[in-house]
Parts: sequence; structure tokens; C-alpha cells
Amino acid sequence: MINKLLDDCFQCELHTSLSDVIEEHSLYWHAFKETIFFMEKGGMASDIGVINGKNVLGLRERNGKQWHLLEEKLDENEPVFMSINLHERFRKCQIHTTQHLISALLGNIYKVKTLSHHVSDDENDIEFDFDHFTDKMASELMVLCNGLIRDDLEVSIHYPTRTEAALHVKEEDLHHEDELRVVRIGNLDYNLCGCMHVPSLRYLQMIYISGYEKTTRGYKVKYLCGDQLLDGVDRRYHVLNEAAQTLAVSHLYLNTGIHRVINDQKAAMREVAVWKQKSFALFAQQFVKKDDSLLVHVFEDWDVKSVGQLASYLANQCQRSCVLLAVLNEKSHVVIARAKDQSGDALRLFRTLADRFGLQGGGNETMAQGGGSCSDELVQYVKSIQKI
Ligand SMILES: [Zn+2]
Repeated sequence: MINKLLDDCFQCELHTSLSDVIEEHSLYWHAFKETIFFMEKGGMASDIGVINGKNVLGLRERNGKQWHLLEEKLDENEPVFMSINLHERFRKCQIHTTQHLISALLGNIYKVKTLSHHVSDDENDIEFDFDHFTDKMASELMVLCNGLIRDDLEVSIHYPTRTEAALHVKEEDLHHEDELRVVRIGNLDYNLCGCMHVPSLRYLQMIYISGYEKTTRGYKVKYLCGDQLLDGVDRRYHVLNEAAQTLAVSHLYLNTGIHRVINDQKAAMREVAVWKQKSFALFAQQFVKKDDSLLVHVFEDWDVKSVGQLASYLANQCQRSCVLLAVLNEKSHVVIARAKDQSGDALRLFRTLADRFGLQGGGNETMAQGGGSCSDELVQYVKSIQKI
């Protein structure tokens, strides 16, 4: 079903009259004498708009009619006024027409076929059966597209006979009953299409080829155009401004700023490691007694990683076996370490604790650790351990 009112993408308002209403799940599908609503097809989303000030909730074609879903039923003789969201429609038409243009250019130059087209809010892509694609090809494509926008080639809609169309398109593409609708871009492209388009290339404003990607069937070429491109630049500028302000650098020096932060962080981590070693030594000085008894200690303000490092330090540097329990935010983490020249099995002791208090973890006979929830019973039990 061809609706010629859709040939003009700027026709966004229409006075018409009701022809049919069907109720479905307490909502009402309305058919009108004419419509300016585009109904999703060819990868192009439906129009957004209102009828007599009420939002259109859905659109569909059925039994040769185009139906518009409204919450309330319109009266039979009520005058009908349709209005489409022009901003949404124009953006869709720009993206769709850009797809025609890129497909036509790459098809003409490299003889590649368009395999798929994907539109999203942020960026669109077209997949071609390329066996290779390069930065140079992407940049040439962008220059060519924008040159044709400057030339402002006309984008025109035609309704040719089958004989006329057969001069431009393959015979098998003409085997359907509908009237033929053709979209031409100057003399560059001749394409059977039922979607909506801008009237000439200047309405695309600008095309940016944002990248490309290998797929299993070829290459995806990514692009943004017109209003979408301007929105994208605006959104990225906001993010860049924020990041640049945080790092106190200009946009073009953001990477320098990021590397400075990374290097500062590395230096800070090196200092933390030095101070940790000093605190381990102080801890050992304070708590490691001269005898060879097991060192058991409960920490309430140490992180899990540091407790593990301390256990290692005590076992390896001080030749002292230990059981260390870290308690933080109602969680527990126990580390059992056995000094090289001492007896015992760290993993066996950990398993006893794990079975009794539902801890998760593991290790080997010289070092075992793990954690779970914390209870007074666990703390008391750990404090009572005499040997590994
Ligand atoms: Zn089209």
C-alpha cells in the first residue's frame, strides 16, 4: 500500500476524517480517510505524533487499512487533525537518506552489496560484503559524501512503470504486486524504497564516518549525520568539558592529564607498599614474642589484602606461624600461615574453621585463607586456637 502523502517529509500536519474504529483491549484502533503517519518498514521506525491532541500509541496495517491506536474513541463526525513530531521524523529521514547515499557510493565504486543497516540513537552502521576496508577508504568516503552534500543533489520520488524500472533494477526485484516507488539521488542512485527521505542532500547537513569494524560477512561502516551528528558532538563536548575540568587540562591534553593521574597513583601505591612494610615490622616488634608459640590476632580496622600480606611477612620474614582474623563491616577474613621450619597444616585448620563457621576459601598446608560472615563465636574460637 503506497501512501503518497509520505513523499514530502515536511508534511507533518493534516486535517482528515474518521473512516473506521475497532476496539481492542479497551483501546481503539482508528482508520482515517488519509494519514500522514509513516508505519515502520524497511528498517525505518514509525512516526511519533498526536491525533486531536492525543498520543498515537501504535500503528499497523491490516486488511488494506492503516490503523492508529488511541486511548479514547473519536466521535464519528469529529474533525480529525493529525500532527507528527517533525524533529524525530527529520532525523530519521536524514539517517535513512544517508544510508542510501553511502550504499550507492560504495556500491558504485567498489561494487559491494549492502547486507544490513542498523540505526541507533548514538551511531548507525551499514554492513557491506567488503573483503577489506581501510582508514583511507573511510576518509575518502567521508570527503565524497560531504562533497555531494555541497552539490545538493536532488532526492526525488518516482512511480515508474515496470518497463522503466527494469532499465535500472534487476528483474527479480520487480516481482511484487504493489505499485513501484523509486527514490533517486541525482543520477547517482536509483533505488526501490517505500520509506521517507529528505528532498535533497543539503538537508543531510554533514556526514561523519565514525569508524568501521570487521564482521563475519564483511565490514560495518559506522556513521552519523545531520541533527544526530550535532547532538553527538554536543553530548561528547559535555563529557570532554567535565573530564578536562576535573583534570585541569584542555580537551587535546586529556591523555596527558590521564597519564599524570596514573603515574601519581603508581607513585602513591609504591609509597603505600613502603609504609606497609614499616607497619608490618612495627607489628612484629610489638607482638612477636621470643618463644615459638602461635601468634593469633584479631584486626578490626585492617583490609583483607593487608592482613594476608602481614601473615606472609610474619611467616617468611619472622619465621612465625600465625592465625590472623580481619573483621570489617560484619564480614570476616581469616589467614593461616605456617612458618617454614614449624609444624602443622594451615589448610586443615582452615577447613575446620570453614566447616564450623561456613567460610569460603582455600590454600595449601603453608598458607590458607578465606572469609564469610562474622560472629562472636568465630572471634572467640580463633582467639582460642593454640596450634596449627
Ligand atoms: Zn529509502
